[in-house]
Amino acid sequence: MMTERLPEHVDVAIVGGGPVGALLALRLADAGIDALAIEARVTTPADPRALALSHASTEALARVGLWHDELGATAITRVHVSQAGTLGRTELSAAEIGLPALGHVVPYSRLAALALERLKAGPVLKRPKADHATVALGTTVTGVDRLARYARLSLATPQGIHRLTAGLVVLAEGGQLLAALDDVEQSVKPYDQHAILATITPAEPHRGVAFERFADDGPMALLPNGDDYTLVWTQTPEGAEARLALSDAEFVAEVSQRFAGRIAGFVKVGPRASWPLALKTLDSVVGRRVVMIGNAAQTLHPVAGQGLNLGLRDAATLAELLAVTPPAQLGDAATLARYAALRRKDAGRVTRFTDGLIGWFESPNPLLKHVRSAGLLALDQIGPLRRGFARKMVYGAR
Ligand SMILES: Cc1cc2nc3c(=O)[nH]c(=O)nc-3n(C[C@H](O)[C@H](O)[C@H](O)COP(=O)(O)OP(=O)(O)OC[C@H]3O[C@@H](n4cnc5c(N)ncnc54)[C@H](O)[C@@H]3O)c2cc1C
Repeated sequence: MMTERLPEHVDVAIVGGGPVGALLALRLADAGIDALAIEARVTTPADPRALALSHASTEALARVGLWHDELGATAITRVHVSQAGTLGRTELSAAEIGLPALGHVVPYSRLAALALERLKAGPVLKRPKADHATVALGTTVTGVDRLARYARLSLATPQGIHRLTAGLVVLAEGGQLLAALDDVEQSVKPYDQHAILATITPAEPHRGVAFERFADDGPMALLPNGDDYTLVWTQTPEGAEARLALSDAEFVAEVSQRFAGRIAGFVKVGPRASWPLALKTLDSVVGRRVVMIGNAAQTLHPVAGQGLNLGLRDAATLAELLAVTPPAQLGDAATLARYAALRRKDAGRVTRFTDGLIGWFESPNPLLKHVRSAGLLALDQIGPLRRGFARKMVYGAR
């Protein structure tokens, strides 16, 4: 619920109203927790990302009104995985596990716009107890100062500087404010890779089939998005630069050639963008009076499409924990240690899996190439293994 007056103190301040921060804010409002969501944007800028979300993620979003038909999400009915230059391939299908879809693809900009809309409109189930604003849009947090019993935030609002205190600060802002924390260390592992993103139109309807292709010069994913595909093509920085400079016809020809035999070519490509890739992790997702969730806690390579899926699970777990914690203890070290313990296994496993996939498929070693091929063939032949993989896609890689 948006009102004029910003509070002087809240129990929980959530910095960032992207999909992860919005999910948490709406869940805390439902639980009657005194929280303020602070988001720098008032509108969402164009963003070329398309996000593949698991069934569990869409259910978590739907619970707080962040998922509905007007989002225009595209169902993934099958995922085709293959490695160039070998016989290794497999296909995961929703029908095989008795479901209509393995997951859905949604444009990031639409989901982010819905997050802003929902924050403005207020919580779904109950009104928050607070008699002050529960969301501050167009407001950037410029400083975080933490003391033993509370934290102090500096906000740049449209009306000027505002200062408030909070029992707990949740950083869901992608990680820009981490440098201000003296008790949390971020590690950055650059991949020396860029992701090229483009909307590309197939010559024939995609019928909900997604592709993951491990080409010799970098993994490529095609996500069905409306009538088109969103292409995510991982390249060296030089390779990305060269491909961004190609004419549309040359670019379409290159992509068509890499999917020859699998897709009947492409007819046109939209504007292309490229994104530098790095793995960013923290030595601890909690610090004094602060907890990091979503991309602020971990930023992953997009190859496995797990970043937001994981971030939504961070937000849901934190919401569940805070809902059963007395207000005076929300930011206590014991509460935060409990949250960190609850998320350690899932976050660690998904981070290692995604990072391992890059190393595994990146190696030019011909022996490894055959091992990878054999792995994909085995997955294809062993029904229970394949169905287990498909279920992980649907319900999340827990
Ligand atoms: C190319 C690419 C493809 C991807 N594909 C997938 C996929 O298929 N599936 C998947 O699950 N994930 C995918 N991801 C990852 C996914 O995009 C992120 O994990 C997700 O967007 C993180 O959400 P978030 O809410 O944590 O952060 P963000 O979406 O970055 O939102 C952060 C918000 O905080 C606000 N903010 C920032 N600083 C401040 C401040 N100081 N004060 C106030 N507000 C602030 C910003 O305006 C923004 O609204 C992909 C990523 C990339 C790069």
